[in-house]
Amino acid sequence: MKTDYDVVVVGGGPAGSTMASYLAQAGMSVAVIEGATFPREHVGESLVPATTPVLVEIGALGKIDEADFPKKYGASWTSGLSGYIPLLGHQGLSHGWTADIQFVERNQPGVDRDYTFHVDRGRFDAILLKHSQESGATVFNGMRVRRVDFSDPQFVTVECSVGPRTVEYTARMVVDASGRQTLLGRQLRTKVADPVFDQYAVHTWFEGLDRAALAPSEAQVDHIFVHFLAVKDSWVWQIPITDRVTSIGVVSQKARYREFDGDQEEFFWEMVSSRPELRDALKNSRQVRPFKTEGDYSYSMKQICGDRYVLIGDAARFVDPIFSSGVSVALNSARIAAQDIIAAHQAGDFGKERFARYEQKLRRAVTYWYEFISIYYRLNVLFTAFVQDPRYRIDVLKMLQGDVYDGEEPKALAAMREVLATVESNPEHLWHKYLGTLRAPTAAPSF
Ligand SMILES: Cc1cc2nc3c(=O)[nH]c(=O)nc-3n(C[C@H](O)[C@H](O)[C@H](O)COP(=O)(O)OP(=O)(O)OC[C@H]3O[C@@H](n4cnc5c(N)ncnc54)[C@H](O)[C@@H]3O)c2cc1C
Repeated sequence: MKTDYDVVVVGGGPAGSTMASYLAQAGMSVAVIEGATFPREHVGESLVPATTPVLVEIGALGKIDEADFPKKYGASWTSGLSGYIPLLGHQGLSHGWTADIQFVERNQPGVDRDYTFHVDRGRFDAILLKHSQESGATVFNGMRVRRVDFSDPQFVTVECSVGPRTVEYTARMVVDASGRQTLLGRQLRTKVADPVFDQYAVHTWFEGLDRAALAPSEAQVDHIFVHFLAVKDSWVWQIPITDRVTSIGVVSQKARYREFDGDQEEFFWEMVSSRPELRDALKNSRQVRPFKTEGDYSYSMKQICGDRYVLIGDAARFVDPIFSSGVSVALNSARIAAQDIIAAHQAGDFGKERFARYEQKLRRAVTYWYEFISIYYRLNVLFTAFVQDPRYRIDVLKMLQGDVYDGEEPKALAAMREVLATVESNPEHLWHKYLGTLRAPTAAPSF
């Protein structure tokens, strides 16, 4: 049977538009069905360098360069902990310490520059979606996919609505890139809430924030900052959006927010008040967007591919924003899955086993992220110690660059796992009192 398209992609965020660019450039007929009308606002504004090789491959990097987004050369962490924290084998940390990394410290395969970008997602996502169209994909804006019918073994029927109208498209397969809407995960009942993470974020943009006042040195001013709060498992992101505008988000446990007697705005200010210098700097600037909240964003899927479907980006899985990995996972999952889809198209077979390579590669990479994030929340000071330890710094940086898709397990991860086990089993350990409450199971959950 002749279908309307080879592939229908649900969602035109970074995952969907990247997938559409790859497939259209390989000569396949592709439709992207996007529910919103672009540009639209979106959380997730700080990139990691692992996005660069993908943007190069689909030919979009020049357009991103031209957009003049702030360049991100590295990341910095500041602490609200007071007193002296003993570290293993080297100097301790005292009040107000910061750790930082610069991407220039490690050469990354396929990355020709020592920076990536912080992006206004409204603009960034619109550039990528337009790029997929210019690559040959058909893009529908303002059209929602309601359901995908898999009942015929030869093709899928994608059922959509535009306002009151219903429209259907047939395709040889469907790619779910619907982000946290997780269209297929919900339809097929394969979505599983994370057993450990249940974080909650309140965020907005401020104009005129004095980023220099919060940065220990001029070189760090345009880094992403993670300000730890003097509240367990809680932190603030600080991401430059333009010269004048900064994105600020508070992340904490959802349970803490539920117990809080106040609204999201009061919660935001209560949380940042545990870092008075941050609160004062924010109070001296102007809030330019309403507060927005994000919750229920930590989940996995029992399956990320099947006969005639593949899930990519947030539609496949999301853990936590702490290492700004989301957009890089969106782009790289699209890259890896596109290779399998192009091969499936050439073979004329879109059965599940065609996507096994994708599943295996993504599962492995996301397992690294999951463990890295779990250790970070469980024993924050361990992460900081490893960043500062010359034996592990470059390996930690590899993960912070998002370079987790090829090669061996990062050595620092195995070493962190070992130290964590020692600290957990020994109440006398110098770090035992710093253990957080979020405790990952020894084996990370699979998809
Ligand atoms: C609090 C928080 C902070 C974050 N910070 C960062 C960060 O600093 N850096 C980073 O890299 N990542 C960050 N992330 C993660 C990042 O937001 C996501 O990983 C990224 O946006 C995933 O891209 P995507 O294309 O998979 O999904 P999305 O960007 O969500 O795109 C999905 C698209 O699908 C459309 N859609 C959904 N359902 C349908 C439907 N039924 N029909 C048609 N269209 C549909 C939506 O309108 C949307 O445009 C953060 C996440 C959270 C929760």
